[in-house]
Amino acid sequence: MPKPSTPAWEPTAAWLQANGIDPSDVPLDSTPSEGVDSEGRPIIRYTVLLRRDGRRYLADDGLEAATEEREAPLITPRTAAPGPWAAGHQLTIRTQLESRVGPLYEATGDRWAEHRDTGRILVSCNCGFATGWTLAAAIPSLAELRREHEGNLI
Ligand SMILES: [Zn+2]
Repeated sequence: MPKPSTPAWEPTAAWLQANGIDPSDVPLDSTPSEGVDSEGRPIIRYTVLLRRDGRRYLADDGLEAATEEREAPLITPRTAAPGPWAAGHQLTIRTQLESRVGPLYEATGDRWAEHRDTGRILVSCNCGFATGWTLAAAIPSLAELRREHEGNLI
């Protein structure tokens, strides 16, 4: 009978299979683990459901399936679980511009937009830090700002 597939078991089953162990022979309530053998080589310790003439059978007590503890060479380590999500730092600078419609050029009838720098910048970070529009002269260099800002977080 095939094992029910559970989300918690699937990564373990894939890991066992990657190491040449048939996960359908490993009890769902067992906990295969990584270790080292007496010579320091990496191994997997796991429980296996025994078969006789191709069929599983009961242990001598007649109450539970016959099992055995085994070791196999660890070929593929478990994949480390991903870390927590975090809004990391990524400082960006925006320069404030003012715009207006320029004067009319009577020869062509065109008007061009004009833009100028207000001298204010806004520094914001992916983590939520923001200076608001501030005179550029009042804000330290990006390198210094990065040192001050990122040094205090994460
Ligand atoms: Zn930040």
